[in-house]
Amino acid sequence: MKIRNGLSKFQETIQPSMQPVYSELENGQSPETLFITCSDSRISPNLITQTDPGEIFVIRNAGNIVPKPGTGELAVEGTIEYAVQALKVKHIVVCGHAKCGAVGGLLDLGGLDALPAVKEWVKKSEAVLEKVADCDEASKGPEAIKANVMLQLDHLMEYDYVKAAVDKGDLELHGIVYNFGSGEVDYLTDGEF
Ligand SMILES: [Zn+2]
Repeated sequence: MKIRNGLSKFQETIQPSMQPVYSELENGQSPETLFITCSDSRISPNLITQTDPGEIFVIRNAGNIVPKPGTGELAVEGTIEYAVQALKVKHIVVCGHAKCGAVGGLLDLGGLDALPAVKEWVKKSEAVLEKVADCDEASKGPEAIKANVMLQLDHLMEYDYVKAAVDKGDLELHGIVYNFGSGEVDYLTDGEF
């Protein structure tokens, strides 16, 4: 009942207070940002970015992973294509987070034998393992979370239309890591967004 009660409460109290926003959105959406983050329940994209409905287009999956283009991951690829080619977003933000279980799984692939689909999925970030190979045990996890975000920015640049838009100055890519425990955000790239 938690979800149904929440929907009712939203309908009765929040929706009326935001009616101008929702009425405007009936005409369409023009978000400036594609926000790519983890499915982790501790991340609430609109809450942590203080954005309203209509302001961020969102992709979520375990580990905020962007597969390279042409790998058949159409749920991600098609959504990036729509954001960049149809919605013409100006920013793509890849948001990793502290204590990410997907990245933890990547660092211990043997522990994912009972979750074969998860294992195959996180292996799309396997290049992270080389980047943290020299880290000590204490820093390996946090550094892998950062390296995982940066890897997805590299993967995004392999999409022809992303690279073309970035080269033209119409699109900027950004990487951040959000720490839900403290609210701190690590900005891994420069730029305003
Ligand atoms: Zn995660």
